[in-house]
Amino acid sequence: MDHEPDVARAEDQALDIDEAPGPRRRALLGVDIGGSKFAVGVITSRGELIDRSMAKVDPDVSGESHYEMLVELVDEQLELAEDRHDVELVAVGVGSAGPIAPNCEVVSPLNIPAWSDFPLRPRVQELTGLPTFGDLDAKALALAEGWLGAAQGVSNYCAMTVSTGVGGGLVLDGRLIDGATANAGHVGHLIVEPQGRRCSCGARGCLEAEASGLAIEALTGRSPTEPSYETMERTGRMVGRAAASMCNLFDLDLVVVGGSVALGFAATFFNAANLELHARATMSHSRQARVVPSRLEERGPLIGAAAVGIRGLRRRPISGAPATDPTPARRRPTATRAPLTDPYTAGP
Ligand SMILES: [Zn+2]
Repeated sequence: MDHEPDVARAEDQALDIDEAPGPRRRALLGVDIGGSKFAVGVITSRGELIDRSMAKVDPDVSGESHYEMLVELVDEQLELAEDRHDVELVAVGVGSAGPIAPNCEVVSPLNIPAWSDFPLRPRVQELTGLPTFGDLDAKALALAEGWLGAAQGVSNYCAMTVSTGVGGGLVLDGRLIDGATANAGHVGHLIVEPQGRRCSCGARGCLEAEASGLAIEALTGRSPTEPSYETMERTGRMVGRAAASMCNLFDLDLVVVGGSVALGFAATFFNAANLELHARATMSHSRQARVVPSRLEERGPLIGAAAVGIRGLRRRPISGAPATDPTPARRRPTATRAPLTDPYTAGP
């Protein structure tokens, strides 16, 4: 099992989930915990997002109020999956803003202060009665790019998000890199300007301190939605500089960049990023590298969450014993229970 790739072609991914198909189409519940909104959706084994519910996060409410809002969204989607779409949900994937503990056993999203070490994965599993797996939102997006986005068919790449902050995920040899505490891929803290601005992490000149939406506002006094040409060009250059380090270090030739700031700055940003990348990634293995825009758009985080669910199902141990507690479903037991013999990891 250790050699199963995390990133498979879309058709193979579907095969995995549809193996031993029942009478109904199979799907996953995706949960996206962002700093400013929660989203829950139903995603088929082929990556189609067929329904979703969203709600804005009110930062001033209690931790349990956040959870109650999440319960409402989950309940709504469980009901729609059953009644409107007639799909069988086989797992839940969660992508969460960080920091997180491995598998989202606890999460402490920076923009949700009431959730400090909140036991997100166990609570969602208890709520749905489905095997539940979690990861950082940026790593989830990296999986989504390999599944259905700009990195389809590519085994080595980095995915970056440049929006309010800067996040990233790294895929090497087809595997999403976790690191010692499951927090690998923080490209936002690569240093791109040694004498630059102080970063929230305490260092100076991190990519996030130079190129994020918050950094651009602090540097220019203007919203990143009203950038000057110089701002778009400089932001692209900073991202290209970080991309060059990633490509040189990890032998990559693809960096996929999404996020409202990068995509909003469009061609000016991407041209500048590629010029900088080509100037700084000049070794024989990195010379061909390029920065390309994400094409997943706003469905990316939920597709990524579903990919986390698929990855979790694939990595469960084979033995007959389920890796996750067979917690009784709180509702709709026939609709939401996964089979105890696990068809997803028992394959050849
Ligand atoms: Zn930093």
